[in-house]
Amino acid sequence: MTANISQRVETLHASSVIFDGHCDTLIPVRDGNRRLGERVQAQTEGGVLTSQHIDLPRLLEGGVTAQVFACFVRQPFLPADATNEALRLIDAFYGALDENPEALLLATKAADVERAKAEGKVAGVLSLEGAEALEGDLAMLRAFHRLGLRALGLTWNYRNQAADGLGEMRTGGGLTEFGVALVREANRLGVILDVAHLAPPGVRDVLELSEAPVVASHANARTLCDHPRNLTDEQLEGIAASGGLAAVTYVPSFLASPPQEASLERVLDHVDYIVKTIGVDHVGLGSDFDGFGGVLPGLEDVSHLPALTAGLVARGYSDEKVVKILGGNYLRVFRQVAG
Ligand SMILES: [Zn+2]
Repeated sequence: MTANISQRVETLHASSVIFDGHCDTLIPVRDGNRRLGERVQAQTEGGVLTSQHIDLPRLLEGGVTAQVFACFVRQPFLPADATNEALRLIDAFYGALDENPEALLLATKAADVERAKAEGKVAGVLSLEGAEALEGDLAMLRAFHRLGLRALGLTWNYRNQAADGLGEMRTGGGLTEFGVALVREANRLGVILDVAHLAPPGVRDVLELSEAPVVASHANARTLCDHPRNLTDEQLEGIAASGGLAAVTYVPSFLASPPQEASLERVLDHVDYIVKTIGVDHVGLGSDFDGFGGVLPGLEDVSHLPALTAGLVARGYSDEKVVKILGGNYLRVFRQVAG
């Protein structure tokens, strides 16, 4: 890179609101294996770097303004302990908030993200990955919303009270009656609907029913990488028509086949493809950091994020477009849905 370009990248990266749609970092924090405020040194396990992608020092170093923290209830807690486990994950976030008031705030509306940017903090957004914790009861969504929840993935890969996840290969059904009610209540409350793990009929149902923009918080383009977690052109078009976005994810197996070919350049390929297919207003970032094993060459952890900005600039995106991709679009959706 010439000095001029690297200066442009540095300025652009530092001035942008960078909004990431998904990470799984609350799990090790809730388990007591990590503190969000402490830098994790890269570790190797059997000669392979392990997936320790995010902590507050590195989020700040990477220039992240808003990070969605998923509350994902793991299988051993299902179904009986799902609500408790989601609450423990939220408690882990609030614990980190108490320990790091100078570095972290809870974002429940767009103005909080802008405040984080102004104050040099990370805005944490809480999301639920899978409706199991709601126990088929809209009152639970309302209660979680009061705790700060602002995004809801209706399913992970399993079937639950709201819908079938992608792993339900035999049935692959759409939304249940409760799922339909949940979409309406999420719209009413101002909770972003996330279709990342839904079986295709459910994606279609949410896109049909939702009156607010819909996101896929961590998914790539199926045309470039034929993985069931990736989005078809038709799904991408539906997401764009809702006013929402597809957030490109760094999971190697969703980027390239074979996954050994995944790299920062493949992330940029998926950005290019989604921009070409549905326009630059409907793409964002959804790393899935701490949700996959190993490291992605070129984006080894969140502190390497300026390399993504450099890559976008190298591919000819204007400053205005880079700002939208890095987080301008996500902030627009967050403002439109949550306020
Ligand atoms: Zn996920």
